[in-house]
Amino acid sequence: MHIAVIGSGYVGLVTGACFAEFGVDVICVDIDAEKIARLNKGESPIYEPGLDQLLQKNLQAGRLRFTTDIVAAVKQSLVIFIAVGTPPKPDGSADLSYVESVAVNIAEHMDSYKVVATKSTVPVGTGKRLAQIISDHQLTKTEFSVVSNPEFLREGAAIADFMRPDRVVIGSSDQQAIAIMRDLYRPLYLIETPFVITSLEGSELIKYAANAFLATKISFINEIANLCERVGADIHDVARAIGMDRRIGPKFLHAGPGFGGSCFPKDTAALSVIGRQFSSPTRIVDAVIEVNHLQRVAMIPKIEKLAGGELKGKRIGILGLAFKPETDDIRDAPALDIIRGLLDRGANVVAFDPVAADEARKLLPMIEYAANEYDAATDADALVLVTEWNQFRALDMNRLRKVMKSPRIADLRNIYTPADMREMGFEYVGVGR
Ligand code: NAD
Repeated sequence: MHIAVIGSGYVGLVTGACFAEFGVDVICVDIDAEKIARLNKGESPIYEPGLDQLLQKNLQAGRLRFTTDIVAAVKQSLVIFIAVGTPPKPDGSADLSYVESVAVNIAEHMDSYKVVATKSTVPVGTGKRLAQIISDHQLTKTEFSVVSNPEFLREGAAIADFMRPDRVVIGSSDQQAIAIMRDLYRPLYLIETPFVITSLEGSELIKYAANAFLATKISFINEIANLCERVGADIHDVARAIGMDRRIGPKFLHAGPGFGGSCFPKDTAALSVIGRQFSSPTRIVDAVIEVNHLQRVAMIPKIEKLAGGELKGKRIGILGLAFKPETDDIRDAPALDIIRGLLDRGANVVAFDPVAADEARKLLPMIEYAANEYDAATDADALVLVTEWNQFRALDMNRLRKVMKSPRIADLRNIYTPADMREMGFEYVGVGR
């Protein structure tokens, strides 16, 4: 089968590379010519473990191609995935301009039956609207079907998530389109991946509901963590014990500086707007968003207190800039807000991240970037651990104590044990401990 993936970012590239690995003939399209040039050389423009090898292997096998020419890609493909961004607008709703412009492009060049599948996260009703846009812009009248096929991959584990997903969701009422999508995902069907076949609207809502639920778990545990600090309990014990209840489960119960990234903040905001548009307010989601904002804000006085009550002129080391480990994605990362908060209070910031520093430099050119974790700690009045990269889990504490001006650590991911840290001579704060 020949397919096209329009938009070669985190989702589009992983989708394209993984389908090529399944033996499908894939052409990935992007408007960013520089990105496509790099991809044609076998270089991934993003950091995602295992992606480079998968791209090179399938490029060499001739199953994966990259182009800026959407016309040829549309003409030769049976299934066309839309995987462009749906960033938040100032009111929180999803900006559909990229998705809609791709739909117009597809419509203008389709000359035979096509399945247009949205991988982009889009509000309820978008599939129907895209069908109308395509129908309005077709130059050659042909049959087509718009299908919703939301993506649930996690950056940093995206390839494994795509190859072994918990489920595949397909939203459509067109039996022919459903059969084509099932055929495309046959390798997953063979490993008994559950398929959920539902309406377009059901599928569109599933994606938002899933992300909002996960975000809810995070905001919930962050509120309980704050309560732990007041009452003298340890969130680690509380989260572990509640997670042992199988109805709750242990995942997404890690207290921290609040959720970030390119999905949870924008998808919770968009769901809230969808709820209001349909006169069915999502009060829990609204609270989740507010709690998350407050959690980020609360990290600044925590660091300030640790640094001796005053940040002006203090040197603060930051470990981790990406919104989570194993990615270079800094979109809406907690580190950005925390660093801006520290700068506002007059601190000097020096940061280190194993892969995200180049991206961060574009947004935060005013701070210093260190070559490694120990350089970031050198002469620091306090060190703040923001992203739990594996290499930060076994820091040489003796070396840190020696290079720091004052041995103080704010561990915003709770990866160290407070008693051990104090025994090693550090002033230490975590979240909820
Ligand atoms: P991204 O910004 O990494 O990639 C989008 C790509 O689309 C960019 O390379 C951009 O140049 C390209 N593009 C924009 N307009 C185009 C056009 N007209 N023609 C061709 N290419 C065009 O975004 P992403 O993180 O891959 O997210 C894409 C969508 O998938 C979003 O809706 C997002 O919510 C959803 N999603 C993301 C993740 C994730 O973890 N990143 C997970 C699940 C779903």
